[in-house]
Order: sequence, then C-alpha cells, then structure tokens
Amino acid sequence: MTAVPAPDIEAEWTRAVKALDAASEICLACHIRPDADALGSMLAVAHALHARGGSPRPRIVASFGDLPFEIPAILRFLPGAELLTPPDAYPERPQVMVTFDAASADRLGLLQASASAAGELIVLDHHASNTGFGTVQLVDPDAAATAVLAHELIGRLGVEISRDIALGLYAGLITDTGSFKFPTTSPRVHEMAARLLATGIEPGAVAHELWERAPFSFLGLLSAALGRAVLEPAESGGHGLVWTTVTRADRAAGGLPLDAAESVIDVVRRADEAEVAVVLKESDDGLWQVSARSKGRVDVGRACVALGGGGHSRAAGFTASGTAADAMAALRRQLAGDAAAGPAGGMAGDAADHAADGR
Ligand code: AMP
Ligand code: MN
Ligand code: MN
Repeated sequence: MTAVPAPDIEAEWTRAVKALDAASEICLACHIRPDADALGSMLAVAHALHARGGSPRPRIVASFGDLPFEIPAILRFLPGAELLTPPDAYPERPQVMVTFDAASADRLGLLQASASAAGELIVLDHHASNTGFGTVQLVDPDAAATAVLAHELIGRLGVEISRDIALGLYAGLITDTGSFKFPTTSPRVHEMAARLLATGIEPGAVAHELWERAPFSFLGLLSAALGRAVLEPAESGGHGLVWTTVTRADRAAGGLPLDAAESVIDVVRRADEAEVAVVLKESDDGLWQVSARSKGRVDVGRACVALGGGGHSRAAGFTASGTAADAMAALRRQLAGDAAAGPAGGMAGDAADHAADGR
C-alpha cells in the first residue's frame, strides 16, 4: 500500500500570498447561510486586505451566495457589513477568489459559478470532508476553525491585527470551539485568542451577542420545539437519539427568521440519554435544514455527507425535502450504520451556533 503524500501546505501558503500580491481584483466568498466562522473569517480578511492597500490598490469584493442577501441577525455586530456586495453584483470571473469555511463548491450557493471561473481559487477551510475544489488548498482538518487559517493568512500578508480584524476572527474561533470547550481547543487556540484579545476586544460582549440575547418571542419558539422533543434510546446503534423540529409556524408565531432557530440544538443536545441530537428547521421554502450533533461515539459528519450534506464528526448537517419524518427515517438508517462502524474520529467543530458546549 502506498501512502498518500501529505499536501505541502507551506508551498500552498506561498502560492496563496503570491497570487494575492499580484492580484488587481480579489473576491472573497464564504459559505451560504454563514455562521460566525465563515462570515467572521471573511470579514477579517476583507478588513486586512483593505488595510494593506497595495499599488495599484486591488479591488476587493466580499459576499456569500444567498438571495435575499441578509446577514444573519446574530452576526450583525461584526464590523464590516459595508465591505459586503450582494451575490448578483459579484464578478463572474474573479481574477483571484478566496473561499472561507466551505467544504465543497456547492456550499457557495449563487457564487459557485464564479468559483469555477476564477483565475485562482484559494480555499481556506477546516472540514475533513473538503472536496479539494480549490487551485490552492489551505485546508487543515486539525484547525479548530477557519478563523485559525484566516489569522495565519493575515499574518503572512504582513497586516497587523486591528480590533475589527480581531472581532471577526474571535467570533469564528469562539463559535467553532464551543467557547473553548471542544477537543480542538489546543494551547495554540488559546495563544491565538490571547493575541486577538490584546487588541482590546471584549470577550463578554462577543459572547453576549452570539449566545446571550434573543427577542422575547424566541422563548415561545424554544418552548414549542422542546415540547415536542422525542427521545429514542435504541437509535444511533443503541447510543440514543434525541430530536425535534422547528417549523415555519413556530417561527411565524414569533416573527423569527430561520437563523433564530440555530441555538435550539444546544439545548436539545444536553439530554444525557442520547449520544446524537438532531433539530430539523423548516426554512421559508419548506425545506428542512437539519442540524446533527454527536458526543463522540457516532460520526454524524459521515451520516450527513451520505445524505448530501456535510460537516464534522461531532457537528454536521444536511438539507432535506419532503416530510420531517422522512428525513429522520433516512438519518436513523445512516446513524445505525455509523454507530456500527465504530467511534467517531477527532473533532473539528464548526459552530455557527450558540452552544455552550456546542460544536
Ligand atoms: P449547523 O448544524 O448548521 O450549525 O452546521 C454544522 C456543520 O454542518 C457545519 O460544519 C456546517 O457547515 C455543516 N452543514 C450544515 N448543514 C449543511 C448542509 N446542508 N450541507 C453541507 N454542510 C452542512
Ligand atoms: Mn461554517
Ligand atoms: Mn468552521
């Protein structure tokens, strides 16, 4: 058996910096329905590129491929909204494009065609399932967040970390490490956090924005979702499954957008009796955005990839049409297979969500 050679990450960094140095147009894109890691990393690099200047100064575009183009409510505290361009005004053939936290090209939504046509496509990501869709692959499955890679890139571009840059990176880091609780929380993660905090950003203010506030009507949504949670001890290969739904009607009752439902999984997953927790969130178009979390013995990433989604071994998701019951039946089958296949590997948490111990 021949070992697959490890990609020469140092050579990839050199190529990335060279491409960015030479570019007259740099187009940034993060994954659709962005979480703090995706949007925070992208905005941090956008701030850095603007601060860097250059002569001639490159044109810098940043976006994500959702229409309507709306920043999720809980991420509106991140500085840099003015640096964003809607996807319908995004260049069709970017000279150099950089993607953030997207494991596959389809996660770019409306910007996928621009990525295919880009002269150089630099991919910053930390999903083990990354499909290798870039021409320059800065993908590290051991990185706690894409923000770690964005931080490295900013350093290599020679830009000093400002407060605006630090806020984006910190939001990504704290989210994807589940507030520094996931196994990816290495000494290096804390060293990076220390450098970010040294700019004067307030960790309490970031945590408050991300996890400690919601409109009053969220309490009603949470109550409805928790009230119909189901525990299935025999599922997930006997390790237990807990699941619930957040319907369009739940959200309509409180006038809440889809992203308001993201933190529900962090309550549901507390159930000790279940190794796997699942929340199915009904989007405005009637599709189910399914979030799955594992405590480590079952690989939900593999199960969700098999259902057309993606993610990490402990935090993953997929999109389903049809009924919630159908989506759950398909997921139960996958989870039974995963549990039989053995324990999940290491975790690279990708958490847009609001977990105390989320993902
Ligand atoms: P979420 O449950 O939305 O917080 O996402 C958890 C992880 O699963 C993140 O790494 C997401 O990028 C990934 N993920 C969630 N939904 C999907 C999807 N529909 N397709 C691909 N990856 C997804
Ligand atoms: Mn993400
Ligand atoms: Mn991430």
